[in-house]
Amino acid sequence: MSSSIPSTLPDWPPALPQSQLDHLTTLALDYALSHGLIYRPPYPAGCSSPLSASSISAPISLFPSPFPKDLHSKALKIQEIYNELYARVTMDEEWLEEVVKACFWGVDGGDGFLRELWKGWKEVREKGIKQPLHLLLARSDYLVHQNSKDPLSIKQVEFNTISSSFGSLSEKVGGLHRYLAQQTSYFGASPHLKPENLPTNSPIKGLAKGLAEAHKAFGVAGSEILMVVQDGERNAFDQRWLEYELLEAHGIPSHRASLQTLTTASSLDSSTYQLLLTPPHSSQPVLISVVYYRAGYTPDDYSTSSLYTVRTKLELSTAIKCPTYALQLAGSKKVQQVLARPGVLEYFLPTASTVGGKVSPVSKGGKMYSKEEVDELRESFMGLWPLGDGGEESLEGERLVKESDGGEGFVLKPQREGGGNNVYNKDIGPFLEELEKKDRLLPSTEPPSKSAYILMSLITPPPHLSNILLRSVKPSPDQSPLEDHSADLKEVISELGVYGVALFGKGEVVYNDGKVGTLLRTKGRESDEGGVAVGFSVLDSVVLV
Ligand code: ADP
Ligand code: MG
Repeated sequence: MSSSIPSTLPDWPPALPQSQLDHLTTLALDYALSHGLIYRPPYPAGCSSPLSASSISAPISLFPSPFPKDLHSKALKIQEIYNELYARVTMDEEWLEEVVKACFWGVDGGDGFLRELWKGWKEVREKGIKQPLHLLLARSDYLVHQNSKDPLSIKQVEFNTISSSFGSLSEKVGGLHRYLAQQTSYFGASPHLKPENLPTNSPIKGLAKGLAEAHKAFGVAGSEILMVVQDGERNAFDQRWLEYELLEAHGIPSHRASLQTLTTASSLDSSTYQLLLTPPHSSQPVLISVVYYRAGYTPDDYSTSSLYTVRTKLELSTAIKCPTYALQLAGSKKVQQVLARPGVLEYFLPTASTVGGKVSPVSKGGKMYSKEEVDELRESFMGLWPLGDGGEESLEGERLVKESDGGEGFVLKPQREGGGNNVYNKDIGPFLEELEKKDRLLPSTEPPSKSAYILMSLITPPPHLSNILLRSVKPSPDQSPLEDHSADLKEVISELGVYGVALFGKGEVVYNDGKVGTLLRTKGRESDEGGVAVGFSVLDSVVLV
């Protein structure tokens, strides 16, 4: 890589007197509230649904966080290839099925959630797929990796193919930091904090355009988009901004409904398989062009089996799904691990120099990338290992855990999304022993439970970066003056998410946009997990250095 990648980042944030920090905080919170950089407040005690006329500032950082300019460009550059790769993985049904089936077995062994998704996918394939197109609104997440000998690099944490959230709020927080830089120049605190180092970032446009492209491909006048949401979603405004853009820029109305509501509000036309939505406020059914899931990524969203049934009903329809079952399965951690195996990238992304090797049937005739481009993508991989399958890599993974004092330097991941599921460092050894103990009670013909997990090397982000994290808090009556927010200076880690959009089917990618935009989520260094919605991270933006 080019030598302009620094080996360290500037110490951060620059120092300012408290009075100036307070002023920036006041400006930031007013900007957030007046620009829709907001959440619904937590439910008051005793309420089961959110308040409808109240909002709070989303958790945000007061300063943008430094990010190496060349690595930011690289992350954006490889997104188009990542989109193509995951499109091909999804369309190569045989390959995908074999990979995900390594995570569950027998009647109830292994990962039950992946099994349910696979069962739905199988049912739809048996009954006949009525809509060959899949819509991907992806987010590829990275951390900056620092080790003692090499320049800084970006390493992929995971690739999300369902409910890739925060595109809208990310655009707003970029606007916030630019506003603070323009309005106050951050009081001259750092030469980096100039508007030209704060890149414009507008994922709303690109994400809505992806939905509009799918709607156009569906091609039936009068049809509308359905967003499947969680009941009581507190991050609703991030979703609303996409709805407004769909309407304002593309003239497409959309609807929101939970899986539970859809059990009664949706129906399939028995001859055409068109999906009809009859919202509770209307007796007039609406034809649905695109089903966009902002729910359904966690087993918690399927509290009863009827909710899997309704998901499969939607899947059987002619509507274009974002994502399909297959595309959701392609986003599993297991697929990420298998893609890192030698030869697998070449199978999906053949280059002039790998011609003659075994190639996926869906890669034939598709866009060719250069060896350098595919290598750049591979450079973003961290070490990934399977466990429990008895193969060479699996044995290596198990040996690495043993030799690292029970897993120091590694993370163990189940097939889950949404944060809070991983096992870190020395907790891995005892966790695996516990799984083995339970396995001893089962028939020895079954694969070990750890086969449903993957092992990954920990990325080590640069130290000495801090930021001021602003969060709404419930005011305490015995506090004077009444405080409704906290401002904590913390040592942090920032995770860059890069959005991508692709529309594809029948072995062909018909739309691919890798320049949709980015997200930066920043969390206290002591916290292992990164979810903004679960309260660990704040929304941030990059200052390029
Ligand atoms: P989820 O699907 O639950 O979001 P992730 O793979 O994104 O799962 O992991 C959650 C969080 O754990 C990430 O946001 C990141 O903070 C941390 N994490 C995951 N993998 C690694 C890794 N290899 N190195 C360092 N941190 C990681
Ligand atoms: Mg994640």
